[in-house]
Amino acid sequence: MTTSASVPAGSTNAATSSGTVTDRLVEANEQYAAAFTDPGMDARPVLNVAVVACMDARLDLHAALGLALGDCHTIRNAGGVVTDDVIRSLTISQRALGTRSVVLIHHTNCGLESLTEEFRHDLEMEVGQRPAWAVEAFRDVDQDVRQSMQRVRTSPFLLHTDDVRGFVFDVKSGLLREVDPA
Ligand SMILES: [Zn+2]
Repeated sequence: MTTSASVPAGSTNAATSSGTVTDRLVEANEQYAAAFTDPGMDARPVLNVAVVACMDARLDLHAALGLALGDCHTIRNAGGVVTDDVIRSLTISQRALGTRSVVLIHHTNCGLESLTEEFRHDLEMEVGQRPAWAVEAFRDVDQDVRQSMQRVRTSPFLLHTDDVRGFVFDVKSGLLREVDPA
């Protein structure tokens, strides 16, 4: 492993073009913190909503949904899939931190559309161990959103399952399209 010795000491304000990407993020944080003032919020989301979305880099949730700091919980993974761990986060979100609504956002041109469950098989062949998790690959994004809505609505752990809505975000237009749960 190489180390990031390329960032010169004493030049924390300078934008370096030679550091690692993480160095760049840390530098950006210094700028952020310099302008930051404590908003004095507690941990409960202002809008009482949790958003579950794909990790896709083209989806800027706060900008796309008009969200401000402190407004919502964002729970993201590959596909925006409602896994056991997402249920864990939603359960804590609702029972400990007061959220009541759930918004699910999948999107067009998702990386999971080009994978199959063969991905697990290939992994097993390569490393000698089969992952415990499903890839959750899909072909029909609407159906995938419906399945996610169903998993939230049928979870025994959640307090609030009456306001659960699912959408497909179009990475070309920036528009959300709601998916009929039926
Ligand atoms: Zn995706």
